[in-house]
Amino acid sequence: MSFSAGVITAGKVSDSVHAGVNEDKSGPLIQDILRTRGFERVVSAVASDDEESIRASLKQILSLKAISPLLERQAPGLVHLLLSSSLKHTPLAALSRPLAGTIGKTLVVTLPGSTKAVRENLDALLSNGVLDHALDLIKGGSGKDRSTTCGHHHRPGCVAPKPRTALSHDPSVPASGRLRVSPYPMINLKDALDIIMTEIQPLEVVTLPVTAGLAGHVLAEDVHAPQDIPSSKTTNVDGYAVRSSDTPGVYNVLTSRTHKLSEELPEGFIFRINTGGPLPAGSDSVIMVEDTELESTLKDADGEDTEEEQVKTLAQVSPGENVREPGSDVRKGDLVMQMGEVITSAGGEVGTLAFVGRKEVKVIRKPVVALLSTGNELLDLQSPKPMPGDGWGGIWDTNRPSLQAALEGMRYKVIDLGIVADDVDAHVRAVSKGLETADILLTTGGTSMGASDLLKPVIERRFNGTIHFGRVAIKPGKPTTFASIPTKAAPHGRKYLFALPGNPAAAIVTFHIFVVPALRKLGAWLPNKCQLPRVQVQLENAMPLDPRVELHRVIVRPTPEGLLATTTGGQRSSRVTSLCGANGLVQLPPLAVGGPSKLEAGEFAQAIMIGEIQI
Ligand code: AMP
Ligand code: MG
Repeated sequence: MSFSAGVITAGKVSDSVHAGVNEDKSGPLIQDILRTRGFERVVSAVASDDEESIRASLKQILSLKAISPLLERQAPGLVHLLLSSSLKHTPLAALSRPLAGTIGKTLVVTLPGSTKAVRENLDALLSNGVLDHALDLIKGGSGKDRSTTCGHHHRPGCVAPKPRTALSHDPSVPASGRLRVSPYPMINLKDALDIIMTEIQPLEVVTLPVTAGLAGHVLAEDVHAPQDIPSSKTTNVDGYAVRSSDTPGVYNVLTSRTHKLSEELPEGFIFRINTGGPLPAGSDSVIMVEDTELESTLKDADGEDTEEEQVKTLAQVSPGENVREPGSDVRKGDLVMQMGEVITSAGGEVGTLAFVGRKEVKVIRKPVVALLSTGNELLDLQSPKPMPGDGWGGIWDTNRPSLQAALEGMRYKVIDLGIVADDVDAHVRAVSKGLETADILLTTGGTSMGASDLLKPVIERRFNGTIHFGRVAIKPGKPTTFASIPTKAAPHGRKYLFALPGNPAAAIVTFHIFVVPALRKLGAWLPNKCQLPRVQVQLENAMPLDPRVELHRVIVRPTPEGLLATTTGGQRSSRVTSLCGANGLVQLPPLAVGGPSKLEAGEFAQAIMIGEIQI
């Protein structure tokens, strides 16, 4: 059975939302949670803080003609559940007055105003199948079927996580009490990327000096040339400025030391000039030094040659020959670069800004990234602790060095928060530090279903964060988690966090697939440029298919026939050597029922380029 939900924001806040002075935070949060927990249609309304308006919103949502008593049947058990769950968090909950009951075949529940309390109340309602059961009973069911079928519309008929909760597991319960199925729906790659693009809003505009440090920024203004370049007639070659009417013959030589540019070039004289230099008044073309001969020289007191005196011109030049006209490179007022363009490290854009004399320019600030690894088993390469006493060797922290290399290669500033132990307080301290110092946090490990996997609960329960997705149907990278955490200091009131899988190959792959687009969106790259480029490649080897979309690590090389992709061998998510030398990820389709079990050598597929094409 599928259910829809209606969310009404009412109370004092709704009036200020109506007046446009306040933002409704809890309404969208409730919708978000219900959507990700499988409600097929979630509609919403903001009512004014009076009974009539609330009734009108209810009517609108329920499509009812008349509602006499707000609730036809009370549900005191649900009220009790909401109160008792809120009281666990604050004694002040004793002062709240939740309502629950039915109108027709619709369950109506009032939730508190704050986002924190909304999460706690929804958690109580959704866990142990209470809400499912109640809805099933109202619709006339036995209350049994829903708890065993999938609640989300992506995979009808599949087995649902049971019990469902609004939040990830509570780390204070013992390991025996942990959830055994992830409460996060498995979403597909495209939906995950869409969520990132929708959730992330670019950082603010800053003015920076035009230096090499601009590389990687997006321009936040149009740049026009303030003057013609060149600003006057200049020469393309080394030689002599002449009148094109002068015939070949012997001429006296003038230089910038003996003649002012503004003065007319006298008859019988030519003016020595170097590439890029300006022509003197009266001249209109330039003869190349190769088309001249030295005739005579000036000598000093010792009889040594010091300077050209006379030169013979050997050719007749035409008007304008070897001359760059004013404004012929860039004309005053020309749009030389456009808002939204990326300043690359290839040099062309920084060069253009410098060429037109821009000393500083408006760009979007680039995100600062805080990086940490989680895991009691991890050893820092540079300052290893003694190995654990139980004889097990521990694991070198691979992800911080690898991700730092990738980030700094893309010119992002990295704050290294080190290795964080698998305990809640250490996580809270590290995440707090990350929120203070960076715009986005990258963590690895601690995203699986282990009792010591703390990131999701810490984000939700300690930072009041929202997990936008917690599982993606790709291999490697299933537990990739994307969240935002409310932070007053941040430009849009929140900062972002990616909890990437701990396995080192999965961490790098998911970095390129999810984090790079997120960093680019923060830096205001145009939406169609945020993802890494995809190219068509021919497979050199057969590649087996998995039920999930697989990102197979390859080396992409150009050949006369096109781009060829060669596998890097074993693709286990821990085998980071499969990324050694890899510059692409072939996106393999999921295994289809009755379809082929692999792509054959010679077949074509798409590869996501994570590095330069290799030769
Ligand atoms: P977890 O999600 O924390 O259970 O991690 C999954 C696997 O990745 C475990 O085998 C971890 O030991 C391993 N792992 C986690 N973090 C790292 C890291 N920074 N470097 C290398 N391996 C790691
Ligand atoms: Mg771990």
